[in-house]
Amino acid sequence: MIKFEHVNKTFGDHPALIDINTEFKEHQTTVIVGPSGSGKSTLLRSLNLLERPENGQYHFNDLNIDFAKPLSNKTILTLRRKTGMVFQGYNLFPHLTVVKNVMEGPVQVLKQSSAAAQKNALELLAKVGLADKADAYPSQLSGGQQQRVAIARSLAMNPEYILLDEPTSALDPELEAGVLRVLLELAQEKDSMIIVTHNLEFARAVADKILFVENGKILFDGTPAEFFKQPTQRISEFLAAMT
Ligand code: ADP
Ligand code: MG
Repeated sequence: MIKFEHVNKTFGDHPALIDINTEFKEHQTTVIVGPSGSGKSTLLRSLNLLERPENGQYHFNDLNIDFAKPLSNKTILTLRRKTGMVFQGYNLFPHLTVVKNVMEGPVQVLKQSSAAAQKNALELLAKVGLADKADAYPSQLSGGQQQRVAIARSLAMNPEYILLDEPTSALDPELEAGVLRVLLELAQEKDSMIIVTHNLEFARAVADKILFVENGKILFDGTPAEFFKQPTQRISEFLAAMT
């Protein structure tokens, strides 16, 4: 389990995260929603240590980090490995085929044999509905297909949690559906996921828990049922503005 306690992050004199306290349970999908500029990406990136909060506690199972103290490279690498960030599909290596893109990390970083990495990569490509694209190059795929390769590439590193920041924001609706279907399937298989999205319908379908973030603070932390059925005044306004 991941737990943040009293986590603060400031950019210059702008507080991006203010006293964040929350938990991300294993085998659950947490969806982070909120207006633009509210701190959603900063929160997600802090879990991966792409952002470094000034203070607060970060607990990852038995690993306990005090953000106010220096972090060793070993700790950073360990946490990066455990929390796989899915970057947008355009981060794929253009000169490598789809299957080679998925194999790259396992071979280079995890030191898997090429045969083992390839077998796993092909299984993951089948899982994201791209078995027939293994030998294609990224430029030959649609944006939605590229994003599904990016998800397969992240899964190949076998992270304990998968982090996704607006995974479909760059996609047309018909391409978005394919990506959301894959994420829904992963959620049903009880992968541990943390997803930032503006798609509230998807949030309702996939989330075990919803975080509503505004002005760097968590204003709601609970179930989708509570979030949608008994929203506070502020959340009602947000929901109304989004539909
Ligand atoms: P969201 O993802 O909810 O749109 P962000 O986490 O990206 O919000 O940003 C939260 C706040 O922090 C915003 O006011 C944003 O302008 C600011 N911010 C984010 N990243 C940086 C940065 N690298 N440098 C300065 N300010 C930043
Ligand atoms: Mg963002």
